Amino acid sequence: MMNPNLYAQLELGFPSDHQSCCIETHDQLYYTWQDMRSGSAKIAHLLKQLGLPPGARILVQVEKSPEALMLYLACLRAGLVFVPLNTAYQSAEIAYFMQDAQASVVVCTPDRFTQISKLALQYEVAHVFTLANRTTPFKDSSLLQAAAAHPNEFETRHSNANDLAAILYTSGTTGRSKGAMLSHGNLSSNAKILSEVWAWQAKDVLLHCLPIFHVHGLFVASHLALMNGSKMIFLPKFDHDQIKEALPRSSVMMGVPTYYVRLLQDPQFNPEICQTMRLFVSGSAPLLPDTFAQFKAQTGHTILERYGMSETNILTSNPYQGERRSGSVGFALPQLQLRIVKENENEAAIDEIGELRVKGPNVFQGYWRMPEKTKEEFDEQGFFKTGDLGKREAQGYISIVGRSKDLIISGGYNVYPKEIEQWLDDMPEVAESAVIGIPHTDFGEAVCAVLVLKPDAQLTAEACIARLKTSIAHFKVPKRIQFAEALPRNTMGKVQKNVLRAGFTL
Ligand code: AMP
Repeated sequence: MMNPNLYAQLELGFPSDHQSCCIETHDQLYYTWQDMRSGSAKIAHLLKQLGLPPGARILVQVEKSPEALMLYLACLRAGLVFVPLNTAYQSAEIAYFMQDAQASVVVCTPDRFTQISKLALQYEVAHVFTLANRTTPFKDSSLLQAAAAHPNEFETRHSNANDLAAILYTSGTTGRSKGAMLSHGNLSSNAKILSEVWAWQAKDVLLHCLPIFHVHGLFVASHLALMNGSKMIFLPKFDHDQIKEALPRSSVMMGVPTYYVRLLQDPQFNPEICQTMRLFVSGSAPLLPDTFAQFKAQTGHTILERYGMSETNILTSNPYQGERRSGSVGFALPQLQLRIVKENENEAAIDEIGELRVKGPNVFQGYWRMPEKTKEEFDEQGFFKTGDLGKREAQGYISIVGRSKDLIISGGYNVYPKEIEQWLDDMPEVAESAVIGIPHTDFGEAVCAVLVLKPDAQLTAEACIARLKTSIAHFKVPKRIQFAEALPRNTMGKVQKNVLRAGFTL
């Protein structure tokens, strides 16, 4: 009988030669398909032995490595829910996720073990393991040591298509992070559809330079390679020199626009270095038309822009065959219904702006422990409200024009102004604050803040930034802070962020 468990679905595509290379690392370590299979089996046994109920949450904050991917596969195989966290998150943030996810296990880097164990005691998380961070001197890994003695084979648990495979936390506009619940069926259906539309082949070599705590790197990129038995060149992060070294051995690269902007600054990034490449994919944030054009001029390749989100994986894509249009995210994927709806709930006509709403096998199961919020985010016809504003041109191409959900995307990472405003407002000197995204050539958008200080209070931008850096992930900390007498507000009392953006200089 067919097993809808995502691992079982991915495994169908593994090559018959188990000794061929699945992952090559930047430091020339080679992991075969058998290594991935037996490594994930050993970890799955270890997790199973903990006696956790199906669907227990495994919170993971580790550096990118093939072993981290084995851990993900092990969770799938054992029927446990993988909850990846951004490596930049600090204690206050991790404590929130531990509590909210009601995690049974936390896996962290060895350097964080003491700090995480203390939190685990406080929040009654029963098990803490470490997974070595290959870029630091800490080589110890309790997870791999504990898994080592277990068998190489593991019978992958039978999962139903609706069973949860992962929870991805996206920040909430209310400041509270929401956990998007993704099922085995959500993830495998998207991987299958993308394999078709991007003409994936076993002989492809994926240049994997995205983080694996986010939908783009963990799901879209890894699933496509695994499901098609294709090799991956796994770079720990975006590194210009490592990418240049690996490109002539690769055929597909996925990146956020910032990556492409950076690569283009190097004149050696030319058609020759891209000779074996067949596809460059961009997403997670808007690709500027300038970058699209310059990329074509400098390399001869036309970037394929697609659009998606944590809650749904990929929703739309420019065509693989046919015109890839600058400034557009292409067409809705097969099996996906996409509506563009105006504020009055009517369908938007051609070229009219509305909210993108979607329904299909890839649309998530709802927000973890937030039934009310989940209900609000689906309309009466069962379509998920993406919060993105867009329009459809006469030929069907869709473009994203903005975000109704007030989100800032800086270097591919999401920053919700409300969360940063709360940290700022908690400072004793601050009367009120507004956080806005300002266009930035490198990051796409830069997080910036406007502060109103209390009478007679003293606070410099530098001191404020330094304080925030001790509390929250650095990508969320404003790049620049300006001061104002008062925030501009409309008649409804809402801060007019458009006015602030217009008056802000980076
Ligand atoms: P995340 O859940 O972190 O993947 O963020 C999802 C959000 O990123 C979407 O709701 C969009 O606002 C934005 N996004 C993703 N891809 C694109 C794109 N190609 N163009 C514009 N915005 C995008």
